Amino acid sequence: MQISTEKNNLFGEQAVFAQRVRAILATRHNRVPKATVITFGCQQNVSDSEKLKGMLCSMGYEITEDEHSADFIIFNTCAVREHAQDRVYGNIGKVKQLKKDNPLLIAAVCGCMAQQEIVAEKIKKSYPYIDIVFGTQVFHRLPEFIYKRLKGSGRIFERDLPNGDIVEQIPIKRDGTFKGWLPIMYGCNNFCTYCIVPYVRGRERSRDPEEILAEARQMVKDGYKEITLLGQNVNSYGKGCDHGINFSKLLRKICEIEGDFRIRFMTSHPKDCTIELLDTIKDCEKISRHLHLPFQSGSSRILKLMNRYYDREGYLKLIKEARARIPDVSFTSDIIVGFPGETYEDFKETLSLVEEVKFSSLFTFIYSPRNNTPAAAMPDPVTRKEKGKWFDELLRLQEKIAAENIKEYVGKEYKVICDDYGSEEGYLSGHTSSSAVVEFKGDSSLIGNFVNVRVTSCQGGSLKGIIIE
Ligand code: SF4
Repeated sequence: MQISTEKNNLFGEQAVFAQRVRAILATRHNRVPKATVITFGCQQNVSDSEKLKGMLCSMGYEITEDEHSADFIIFNTCAVREHAQDRVYGNIGKVKQLKKDNPLLIAAVCGCMAQQEIVAEKIKKSYPYIDIVFGTQVFHRLPEFIYKRLKGSGRIFERDLPNGDIVEQIPIKRDGTFKGWLPIMYGCNNFCTYCIVPYVRGRERSRDPEEILAEARQMVKDGYKEITLLGQNVNSYGKGCDHGINFSKLLRKICEIEGDFRIRFMTSHPKDCTIELLDTIKDCEKISRHLHLPFQSGSSRILKLMNRYYDREGYLKLIKEARARIPDVSFTSDIIVGFPGETYEDFKETLSLVEEVKFSSLFTFIYSPRNNTPAAAMPDPVTRKEKGKWFDELLRLQEKIAAENIKEYVGKEYKVICDDYGSEEGYLSGHTSSSAVVEFKGDSSLIGNFVNVRVTSCQGGSLKGIIIE
């Protein structure tokens, strides 16, 4: 059951704390105070960090990348993989020295790791120089936490999952100027057996469609050319809400906004990817011809153990339906190699599915157990070394497929968003609606704009083209 957000909480109370912090900082530092936000993990965290930066600016901080000159430092953490957690501990350890250099420094840890009791306890005991630790659903209360700390409160630990309301109108300082994130929902109800997200980000909650549309309109007005809608499972947007707008309808409404822009979205769960959604992509030119559709394993037996609610046949049928409707669509996916109990026979089904679908790229991971998830308690007899061999086999296969796929682009014309400088002098780099990267000659004034490009060649796995009228 998804929580409706009919009545939105606004940022008002926290805006008052932000003004109080601003007043205190004006007398505490004899210069503009600076803040650093260090982000780990997924796009959701990157998007949350843009809000942390927005709130910090509203408190009078200037954002800096240089942690040595910062008066406030915050680590927005990720708990999805053990490796990411270890990196966070390594990073927060250096705060000790930073505080010696700048005794006025305030340090905070937030995000998915901070939501876990075991992590909060570890920080409490082993990292006494961390002032504030708070979880994913109270991150809008940053001004209040900083205010309390500035007023001399003890260390702050706040990780309650409150009633699930979404707080709207939090200030945002976006990192990009022409590509931006737009969260449409938070949390997840799916409980895949390997995943920690539902425990650290709570149940699914959809934003009010009017709030999303207002933000999208503003982004288009501000010159954003690509808006990526974010959620753990965007396909289930609106479930349980009484406004009657599902994900497909939301997409159609966003497409009605006047202007030249493109919409992308992530992440889609195959079980909720409907024919209505595929038809919406087909009908709306503004929607990217790219579906990130994580299948995780090609073996129906393993998918069942993962609690994914679809099987191999269902996934392949979906791909077929999508291709029939949207011939130029490209697919990317996430795959877990070496899930507990997976045999080489199961893994071969993953290889054959990859071969059949011909993804343009893959995000592949060796299974990493997460505390307190059902998969972590499952027997896992295959060694890490063996899983590494499977992983390499998958990479080799995907490299071969990607090299073949990319040749399909040669000789065709595409509208691309010019992203950056290219890999060679005088070249720029852009991406098509299906997310293929192409380089072409042009001057830097084109960065951030749409250009029409004819792909002329494929060299060493990368596309080259020329700008056309
Ligand atoms: S759909 Fe599954 S893998 Fe994705 S966030 Fe939800 S529980 Fe995790």
